[in-house]
Amino acid sequence: ASTGGPPPRSLPDKLLGGLLSPDFDEASCVSRYKSSQFWHSNHTPSSYLLRKLRNYEALHKKCGPNTELFNRSLPHLNASTGEGGNSECNYVVWLQAGGLGNRLMALVSAFLYALLNDKVLLLSVPGDLHDTFCEPFPDTSWALPSDFPISNFETHDFYGQSARSYGNLLKNKVISRNSTERALLPPFLYLHLTHDAGDSDKMFYCEDAQSLLQNFTWIFLRSNQYFAPALFLMPQHDEELSRLFPEKETVFHHLSRYLLHPSNSVWGYVTRYYEAYLANAGDILGIQVRIFPNAPVKFELMLAQVINCTLKEGILPDTLIDAPANSSTAMGTKAPKAVLVTSLQTGYFETLRNMYYERATATGEVVGVYQPSHEETQRTERQGHNAKALAEMYLLSFSDTLVTSAFSTFGYVAQGLGGLRPWIVMRPDDRNNPACLRASSMEPCFHFAPAYDCKAGRNVDKGKVVPHVRHCEDLNFHWGLKLF
Ligand code: GDP
Repeated sequence: ASTGGPPPRSLPDKLLGGLLSPDFDEASCVSRYKSSQFWHSNHTPSSYLLRKLRNYEALHKKCGPNTELFNRSLPHLNASTGEGGNSECNYVVWLQAGGLGNRLMALVSAFLYALLNDKVLLLSVPGDLHDTFCEPFPDTSWALPSDFPISNFETHDFYGQSARSYGNLLKNKVISRNSTERALLPPFLYLHLTHDAGDSDKMFYCEDAQSLLQNFTWIFLRSNQYFAPALFLMPQHDEELSRLFPEKETVFHHLSRYLLHPSNSVWGYVTRYYEAYLANAGDILGIQVRIFPNAPVKFELMLAQVINCTLKEGILPDTLIDAPANSSTAMGTKAPKAVLVTSLQTGYFETLRNMYYERATATGEVVGVYQPSHEETQRTERQGHNAKALAEMYLLSFSDTLVTSAFSTFGYVAQGLGGLRPWIVMRPDDRNNPACLRASSMEPCFHFAPAYDCKAGRNVDKGKVVPHVRHCEDLNFHWGLKLF
């Protein structure tokens, strides 16, 4: 009889159905072509998406840092108006906001925005993400070069108060939503799309704002939100988006697998941990427990939610309180179940581990419980801390079954990469709510989605506009929007 090891699977397709370009040197970024060996769920990308990505790669190569076209578009940043912009290459520059999960929500959304608008996505890579991700586009770079004319984006000019922000330009009547003449526009625009964006900033989501934005060679975008669902509410993108994503819930899934490749050093964390603790498991259950410092939950209450959820839903086996003396397992007949816990704290992991050490399971299964790190507090300013966060998102994405915490973008990254519809553990605020709910889509939730209907000039229920954009499952935060 077999003693362990995952069940043999058909040979994984290292290019993920053509999602990944074959044009990279494998050794420079091992994760790119190796991750497929670990994922359990695969969705086939549409041939239209593949074509779009190859065309995007060509555009990025043509317009990317240090190309002639790129250098020609730089002086434009200091021009007095938008006139004379280079119409061949237009850029959207991602600026960081929030923890790693939040940053990646915005990064993937910004890439979709770039794809739809033929813009080139560049990143102002913060020092704390140095050597964390590989380059996603062949023969070029997505990082702003170090000699870029604007060197510091962490100033008032690139936050909500900025006079350059789209919201303030509208408010101060420097531009109107349908201005199009470049000579009347400023040379660049800052989009403030974080959770605290004002009503004017959120005019970005109006259909008629989009053609104005086409006229900017340089757009700087700061967000901590997964705003992709809002792009699906813009009728002008309807047809394109249906061709790109016939399966609506795979937007983040495909784009994250396309863009987010851990660097070799982060991949080292992933594979060392996997080989040491997970490779021989019969199956892997990922449990991600996130407590938000600004909305704390008592440890005992959250622990009860996790245990109630996993036992009631049959995700983890029950334990026997008075196990008979002979209730040991039939050694070696079945590979153990591995439970991978990720959390900033160790308490959830310790309790689960002790539970399955001290008691036998009703099913005779053996359960091993593991936790790679417990960083105690969020330290996004530290590169090593973010490296672990990314490694753990990846490890969770290799699960067969995933349990996440409501509202956590950390969990969204794991479920999206993995192509998994997780069980979402709710905050224990309301006794009438179940401990957890099964997500009916693997997409992340756009938490602070706009409610304003630009045509009608009033707020509407945006979860009822099109069938595939609906409210998120999270019972404590149901006004968010999500693709189904
Ligand atoms: P969110 O706050 O849950 O939406 O997720 P973010 O990723 O945006 O921010 C939380 C940050 O806290 C993460 O990026 C990590 O830096 C840290 N963190 C939270 N939970 C974990 C965890 O389970 N493991 C590790 N290594 N870090 C975590």
